[in-house]
Amino acid sequence: MPKQPRPKTNVQRQSPICKPAHRRSSTPPSTVHFEKLYGANYLDISQYNTMHSEIGGLEEQLAVLRKAFWSKRELIAMTGAGISVNAGGEFLISLAGGILTASSVPDFRTLCGGKPSTELFNIDVYKSKKSTEKYHKMCVELFNKATKAKPTAFHYFLSSLCQNDRRRLRLRRHITQNVDCIETKLPSISPDENAGKGSFPATQQLHGRIDQMICQSCKKYLPFDPELFRGHEIPPCPECVKAETQREQALLDGRRALKSRGIGRLRPNVTLYEDFSLDELDISEWMEKDLLKRSPPDCVLIAGTRLKASGAAKLTKNICLAAKSWGSCGKESLVVYVNKEQPSFGRALDSLIDFRVHGDCDTFVSLIQGRGNAYC
Ligand SMILES: [Zn+2]
Repeated sequence: MPKQPRPKTNVQRQSPICKPAHRRSSTPPSTVHFEKLYGANYLDISQYNTMHSEIGGLEEQLAVLRKAFWSKRELIAMTGAGISVNAGGEFLISLAGGILTASSVPDFRTLCGGKPSTELFNIDVYKSKKSTEKYHKMCVELFNKATKAKPTAFHYFLSSLCQNDRRRLRLRRHITQNVDCIETKLPSISPDENAGKGSFPATQQLHGRIDQMICQSCKKYLPFDPELFRGHEIPPCPECVKAETQREQALLDGRRALKSRGIGRLRPNVTLYEDFSLDELDISEWMEKDLLKRSPPDCVLIAGTRLKASGAAKLTKNICLAAKSWGSCGKESLVVYVNKEQPSFGRALDSLIDFRVHGDCDTFVSLIQGRGNAYC
């Protein structure tokens, strides 16, 4: 059974600065540790093969989880690299993780020249021509991979929860740290559509998107053009060039013209460590308008992420706290954490999780839906 909900609603704005969360320990706790901590609410599906129907001794725990999960009405999903890992090519995990990918991904380390991923996704990539060129090369490669990637079972699962039916669980918001834009391939969860409630799309991309570039001066978003990122040159923004040309022409014609803002440079729209994230500001706005002023969700699914970035971890904690505030009305909420890897968040968030599932995200959605379930 899920733990008793907490009445506390101490929701705060998260910092817009993106940086790695404080490391708790270099050695992750063992599976045994979590079994002890969560008891019946710890489910290890890592050995389960979707090709086989036998789930062994897990059926009873699964039944409890299914019952609790499908009794809820509104879901907020916080996701990371783990939901895209089966999207077509192991390299995608580095893309899906965006700035947050673990340095243990072999392909990614090769591309980075053996460096940990955080170094290549740090604002320092613009400090030298060599590192800028390497960063551009990686972004072009990630963009090409993302273009070919296909939605996973987890993406389809989220999409299936977008139907407007008050009698069943509905996806209220999907917040992802992934920059792979796989969601754009399913209209109901596309960040380009206002499919979610209110004026916000169903999917909010916390750390940018690889299919866009952004001007550092005028802040305009443009579709990503791989041809512009073939070397170390940081391409000029065509919108700024156009404005500057018009301004110069106005001066030549003897007309009044605005003060020159200069010509901005284009960057891939991927959040870098120690950089400022416009997307996180958007999320803060949504937090205030949507989450805090309306009724909170009664279900939170954290999937495929270790929540290594402090901004994402704080945001998730706030969402969980909001969900737990249902406890003051005598209604139970549910927070489920699903991931292959052990999380890197602290005790405060840990204590808000009701059910921990160790394993693949696609396997989880297959099991939570169950055979012959109407939600498949
Ligand atoms: Zn510009």
